[in-house]
Amino acid sequence: MSFRNMHIISVLFICLTSVLITKAYSTSSNDTEAENITMNERSNAQNLTFNNESKIKIVASFYPIYEFVKKVGADKVDVSTLIPVGIEPHDFEPTIQQIQDAETADVVIFNGAGLEEWINRINTKQIVDASNGTKLVLTNNPNEQRANYEPHIWLDPIMAEIEVKNIRDALIRVDPKNSQYYTDNAESFIRDLSTLDRQIRTSLSSCSKDDFIAFHNAFTYFADRYGLKQHSIKGPSPEGEILPQRLAEVISLAKNLGLSIIYSEDLVDPRSAEIIAQEIPNGRVLVLSPIEGISKQDQKEGTDYLYKMRQNLKNLMEGLDCKTN
Ligand SMILES: [Zn+2]
Repeated sequence: MSFRNMHIISVLFICLTSVLITKAYSTSSNDTEAENITMNERSNAQNLTFNNESKIKIVASFYPIYEFVKKVGADKVDVSTLIPVGIEPHDFEPTIQQIQDAETADVVIFNGAGLEEWINRINTKQIVDASNGTKLVLTNNPNEQRANYEPHIWLDPIMAEIEVKNIRDALIRVDPKNSQYYTDNAESFIRDLSTLDRQIRTSLSSCSKDDFIAFHNAFTYFADRYGLKQHSIKGPSPEGEILPQRLAEVISLAKNLGLSIIYSEDLVDPRSAEIIAQEIPNGRVLVLSPIEGISKQDQKEGTDYLYKMRQNLKNLMEGLDCKTN
């Protein structure tokens, strides 16, 4: 990299850092409040509609678990998330109020694999680790003091099936009279996940590349499942600053691998991905969502997990130069 390019990246980095700080400030309180209000309004509306029917109260730790609980529990459950759905979950710290609210639930369901390090602070008998029975791998991060597991299970449709089965079993345990209902719903959603898995295999079967650069390492299980090679701008978490040196490394990685698509995420500032894309031939930025939460726009449009997975597939097919049939 030339001195001039390095200088441009340094200047952009300083701008980006200050923008990110401002953004973090402006989103932390107002957006969280707005999202909580939306969730409360939704559950109030449900309570009004189904006033005579007592529903099981479920607190899911974050968005994908919430989605899976909705699919299995449907109108027998009143589900909310502890981490607001527009907030990225890595390094999230719950407030005392959020912990206390979770303790009033009939069941608390979390992803596990170390993603929710605060989970033991919730004092409740009915708490379910959705990752039970999945085959976890360790993260490959030399900066971490201790070995950590890769938490992004939900992005592999086959591992997601295990999470759905754990959720089904938890609902049957607290509400056995509706066991057939939960069993049928889980079966139906697992069929959707199998269809998605087959669609991914077929779509990625004739691509000229198998390397991709994600924003953070959310696609380890996905890449293993479908024979791809994941690289990332940010490492194990999307949080924190990206140094100019790292941007320069990713630019030369993309050039060496002949990649023109750099992936960003829906809940992060896309500017570091854009800086990289500007420095590589025909560079462009697309979204590869870790589905750790969804934006307000997606919430308004009623976007769900399966839709986001198919959007990811479409964008991956562009980056990997896959043949479309
Ligand atoms: Zn992540």
